[in-house]
Amino acid sequence: MALPNKAISLASVSSVLPSSVDKLKNSSPRARMNFGVSRNSSVKAVQSSAVESDTGKWVRQRRPQNVNGDFFVDHTCIDCDTCRWMAPQVFTRVGEMSAVYKQPISSEDQLKALQALLSCPTSSIRTEVPPPDILEAQKTLPIPVDEKKLPGVYHCGYHSEKSYGAASYLIIRPEGNILIDSPRFTEKLARNIEMLGGVRYLFLTHKDDVADHGKWSKWFSCDRILHSEDVEVCTADIEMKLEGNGPWSLGDDIMLIHTPGHTEGSVCLLYKPLKMIFTGDHLVMTESGLSIMEMYNKSSVPEQVDSVKKLLDLDFNWIIPGHGRRIEFKDVPEKKAILEAFVQEKYNQYSSATNKCYLIAAMGIQVLWSFGLACLDFHALRSKTNLQNPVLVSLFVVGDWVTAILSLAAASSSAGVTVLYSRDLDYCKSPLVPCTNFKASILFAFISWSLLAISSHVTFWLLASV
Ligand SMILES: [Zn+2]
Repeated sequence: MALPNKAISLASVSSVLPSSVDKLKNSSPRARMNFGVSRNSSVKAVQSSAVESDTGKWVRQRRPQNVNGDFFVDHTCIDCDTCRWMAPQVFTRVGEMSAVYKQPISSEDQLKALQALLSCPTSSIRTEVPPPDILEAQKTLPIPVDEKKLPGVYHCGYHSEKSYGAASYLIIRPEGNILIDSPRFTEKLARNIEMLGGVRYLFLTHKDDVADHGKWSKWFSCDRILHSEDVEVCTADIEMKLEGNGPWSLGDDIMLIHTPGHTEGSVCLLYKPLKMIFTGDHLVMTESGLSIMEMYNKSSVPEQVDSVKKLLDLDFNWIIPGHGRRIEFKDVPEKKAILEAFVQEKYNQYSSATNKCYLIAAMGIQVLWSFGLACLDFHALRSKTNLQNPVLVSLFVVGDWVTAILSLAAASSSAGVTVLYSRDLDYCKSPLVPCTNFKASILFAFISWSLLAISSHVTFWLLASV
C-alpha cells in the first residue's frame, strides 16, 4: 500500500523516532521471550487459548482495547506497526500497541487481516476461532505491492523477529529474481516464491535484516550479497561481499549504492525500470514521517545524513524501506525537494545546540559588562574622578564574579557537549556539523574567563584596600 501523494509534504518530513521500532528493539524481556513462540502452524498461531511463558506464570491475553469480535491483538504486541500498514482498515494504535478497531467485514479486509496475522513477527494477532480461510491467505503471500504501477514487485510478508520485524521484498526480473532482505523462513512461502521463478540473488541491505538467510540460500541455491563492512560470524559464508564505496551494478537495471551511517555496510538497491529504491534501515517512513532512526544508529548519524544526500540526484520516486510505510512521490523533483528539506532539517538540528545559545548569552553579558567598565574608566580618567570608594568597588567585585562564573559555566558546558559530539557520537566526522567552530568558540570562552578571573581577584583585593 502506498501512501497517497498528498500525505507526503514538506510538513510531513519529521525526525520523530518511530515508536514502533523503538518498542520493538527495546522490547521488554517478556516481549522478547515471545519471539520464540512457534510459528510452525499458522492455524495453531491464531487460536486464542492461553500460551504459557517459560515461567509458567504468564499467559497471552486479549487486549481490552480491541473491539469485540473474532480478530484481536494480544498483549504480546511489540508495536512494530506491520499490521497497521498492511491492514489499516482493521488495525490501529491504541495505548502504544496495536489493536483491532474494526472487525473485517468484506472479504478484502478479511484477507488483509489474515495476511497481517501471518506477517506479525510475534504472532500477536489472533482469532477467537481458527479461521477456515487461513490456508487460502497463505497462498496469497508474497503480495504484489502495486500490480499496475510496480508489476513484478512483491512484499513477502512473514516478518521475522530476527530482523526486528523488517519487511522483505521480491523483484521478478528476466535476469534472475532478487529477494531483498530475509523474511522468516517457511516452506509455504518458499514454494510460493518458487512458482514465481525462485530466487537468483538474496540482497541483504545491512547486517540487521539477515534473519534466515542461510535457509533461503540453501533452498534456492542463490547468491547472497552483503557489504563486507557488515559481515559478521553468522554471515561469514556470504557468496558476494561488496568492497569499497561502489556503486555496483547487478545487470543494467539494478544499482547498489553504499549508504553508510546506520551501519558501516548499509547499501540501498535502486531498481531503475520502476524508479524505486529499497533502503533497508537507512531511510524509513514511520507513522510520524520520514526518519533515519537515529536512536538505532550503529555507526554515525552525520554519516547517515550525508548518505541521504547521495540519494538526491538518483532517478527514483518510490522509497521501499525495511521498516514502515512505502513512499510514492509525485515525481523525481518532488522526491529531491523533500529529501533536501529533510537533510537541511537534520543539519539545523545538529548545528543549533542549546548550549551554544547559552555560551553566546554568557559571553554577551560579559562583553556588555566589560564595555560598561571601560566607559566608566575612560570617564574617570577624563574627569579625574577617583573611583576608589567602597560602594563602586563592591559593585565591580560582584559584577566581575558573576560574569566570571557565568562564563566558566557556559564554556564548560559547551566543552562537554562538544566532547560528546566528537568522541561519543562521532558527529564531527561530518562537514554538516561545524565542530571546529564550536571548539574555537570554547577556546576563546576559556581565555575570556581566565582574564576575567584575574580581574575578579584584583577587584576583590582592591575592596580590602578601600
Ligand atoms: Zn538496522
